Amino acid sequence: MSEGLNLPRLHQLLQQLQAVRDKLSGGPRQIRVRESRIAQGEQLALKRTEELKLARAAADSKNLELKSKEAGLLDLQRKLNVSTSNREYDAAQTQIDADKAAKAVLEDEILELLDRAEGIQKEIARAREAVSQAQADLEKFRAEFDSQADQWRQQQAKLEKEVAAAESAFTGQDKDKYRRLVDAYHADALADADTGNCSNCYVNLTPQQRVQLNSGKHLFCGTCGRLLYINRG
Ligand SMILES: [Zn+2]
Repeated sequence: MSEGLNLPRLHQLLQQLQAVRDKLSGGPRQIRVRESRIAQGEQLALKRTEELKLARAAADSKNLELKSKEAGLLDLQRKLNVSTSNREYDAAQTQIDADKAAKAVLEDEILELLDRAEGIQKEIARAREAVSQAQADLEKFRAEFDSQADQWRQQQAKLEKEVAAAESAFTGQDKDKYRRLVDAYHADALADADTGNCSNCYVNLTPQQRVQLNSGKHLFCGTCGRLLYINRG
């Protein structure tokens, strides 16, 4: 067994170190989340802008069709007025009726396209608003993170030194076992057994194990392998 180990203290240091590391790695992760939200909003605005162009182009082309239909109708009206036979008159009238019906359909379609364009325009405005909100949010988050990151890095360096000093009391096999545990579970490599069971997996300790821990020795949980200790004093 390794002498001079203060496992409660080491556990506390490991937890503090992990908390600081989480803050430092959490910042860039949060920034990436926000950046992807912005990119998505920009993509959506672009997509809708394309759709808006298409709707407007379709409305324009239907408008041209409508104009030519109207010109055609004027022409037919003139033919009707100068028709010299019933047959000519009836033919012009039939064509006029058909063209008027087609004109009404075109007018409906144009209105529908203009409605759609208006709806898309609103969606674009909303998407752009969301993007600028997300950008402001990102700037704010980044500034806050930057203002604290230096302090966290200093804390991290200090804690790493303290952890290394506390760990240096491990010797022999314990040293390797401990290293593997910390690599795998970080601060959760250690678990207190203050209540008579492993606080990681809750398995009960044997009376013998309790005696061992109470006498200041440490042991590894037989079930989950964590390094067990008890808080004294
Ligand atoms: Zn356990």
